[in-house]
Amino acid sequence: MNDGTKVVHAGLPEPAAGEPFLPGPVFAAPYHLDPVEGPVGNGYARTEHPTRRALQQAIGELEGGPALVFASGQAAITALLLSVLRTGDTVALPSDGYFTVRAFAQGTLRGLGVGAIEVPTAGPYPDFTGVRLVLLESPANPGLDVCDIRAVAEAAHAAGALVAVDNTTATPLGQNPLALGADLVVASGTKALTGHSDLLLGYVATNDGGLYEQVETWRKQTGSVPGAFDCWLAHRSIATLDLRLRRQSDNAAALATMLSERSDVSGVRWPGLATDPAFKVASEQMRRIPGVVSFDLGDAARVARFLAAAELVFAATSFGGVHTTADRRAQWGDDTSPGFVRLSCGIEDTDDLMADLAAALDQA
Ligand SMILES: *Cc1c(COP(=O)(O)O)cnc(C)c1O
Repeated sequence: MNDGTKVVHAGLPEPAAGEPFLPGPVFAAPYHLDPVEGPVGNGYARTEHPTRRALQQAIGELEGGPALVFASGQAAITALLLSVLRTGDTVALPSDGYFTVRAFAQGTLRGLGVGAIEVPTAGPYPDFTGVRLVLLESPANPGLDVCDIRAVAEAAHAAGALVAVDNTTATPLGQNPLALGADLVVASGTKALTGHSDLLLGYVATNDGGLYEQVETWRKQTGSVPGAFDCWLAHRSIATLDLRLRRQSDNAAALATMLSERSDVSGVRWPGLATDPAFKVASEQMRRIPGVVSFDLGDAARVARFLAAAELVFAATSFGGVHTTADRRAQWGDDTSPGFVRLSCGIEDTDDLMADLAAALDQA
């Protein structure tokens, strides 16, 4: 099956007369137990939940490996790090990836005696001898560099390290890290996967039964599960992932081209632009290029004027939603220049967006 079909059917139960296509959210903490047998299917929602199971089934089908969902992307990433790493271990992290992960390594992981090395996504990659886990993020948020996952995974495995890939920006329709040699995939489902800017979600997926059990035990014992309604909303939203990504990617292609042709905009990055440093590896590795574009307007005041003038661009953090948004990353302490903007293309009409952005840039 192709993407558009897969996302519509992912995780749905077999058709049964009188039943909904996607069963509604089940609101329960404990379930009835059989007085003799004890739990039958479900006992307590922190460990078993039918709405969550259906969503996990859907994500697992798309990623190509069994999935565990979490209350947020950070809950998933920290669950992975803390269930795999032990005192004395070293983890390799992207120096240009999601900044909260680096902050967690510098604080909590260091406090636990876990060392971290930081490597730029575009490389060069060091010798991984002595490294327990290599976490990659490709394309990296917010700089949009891309790494050759297969090549890095081979080098890491040769040195005895595990490989995890943060697949947030790409989504499982953009690339499947497990098929590219990664041991684990981890992501925020808050962004393009669910795409409506109305929930927080994270997941870990792996075909390694031992790792799956470790992460599942971690979740069971720490309790970082998403609620029933968020699971249901997420599952419902995944049905439109193919359509949303198509329009976001088309909008990004048009806007990135327009931005790169303007003399008053610098540093335009979109891995789908033929002139982009990430173009070659992205076009070989990815099945589609996400709708996120980055560029530089020089200073914070010009970004503010641009955002005030634009009618179709909401100033907001996060990305991947149906509404076009822009975020000046330096305001969050991200290691970017003051005029750096991450633009997340929504699913609006391409011509409308082009006209609005061009007019806003002219005014700014
Ligand atoms: C947003 C994001 C996260 C964190 O996800 P939350 O759902 O906000 O906790 C992790 N990695 C990347 C690449 C992200 O963009």
